[in-house]
Amino acid sequence: MLSADFGHLDRDTRMIDRSAAEWVHIDVMDGVFVPNISFGFPVLKAISKATTKFLDVHLMIVEPEKYVVRFAEAGAALVTFHIEATTDSKRCIELIRATGAQVGVSIKPATPVEALREILPLVDLVLVMSVEPGFGGQSYIEGSTEKIAELRKLANELNPKLIIEVDGGISAANAGEVFGAGADVLVAGSAVFRAEDPEAEIVKMLNA
Ligand code: ZN
Repeated sequence: MLSADFGHLDRDTRMIDRSAAEWVHIDVMDGVFVPNISFGFPVLKAISKATTKFLDVHLMIVEPEKYVVRFAEAGAALVTFHIEATTDSKRCIELIRATGAQVGVSIKPATPVEALREILPLVDLVLVMSVEPGFGGQSYIEGSTEKIAELRKLANELNPKLIIEVDGGISAANAGEVFGAGADVLVAGSAVFRAEDPEAEIVKMLNA
């Protein structure tokens, strides 16, 4: 939703709701973990009212343990925090788990897959950032494909049901390659909202 028109958030959310997309991805930025500020609880609540889709909340905030419960209460079906943003990933996981929401952990481009080894069995999803978090409209970092394949291999060993989600620079041009490397869920922002026909663009990516 970061690439939606915030003056027409209801209209843009309803477009996603009608589309073949299965999840609505919401990027929360605090201006500290990333050099940008997006939105928080009231906007999440407004989005949740305009869709029946699975609400996927990606927290790019420091000390996520302070807020994960409130995001779950505001409507998140999945709460994803950054492993780099906390000194206590296990506590974040426990707090999210206790709300009944699904648990995700995200890694920035410079964070190796190996950093996830200890907590991989405890989470439902890993979100691989394929751009530096903070802004929409960036280009996919090519090395990400290899990283996704490496994560899939580690997950086969430690958590075979793990969902791999990829976020950043995804379009119909690279969706096939990213799915091929082992991703289950792709996040697309500008590729959808800047398309002439956003709903058709979503179908194109799903069929890539
Ligand atoms: Zn995101």
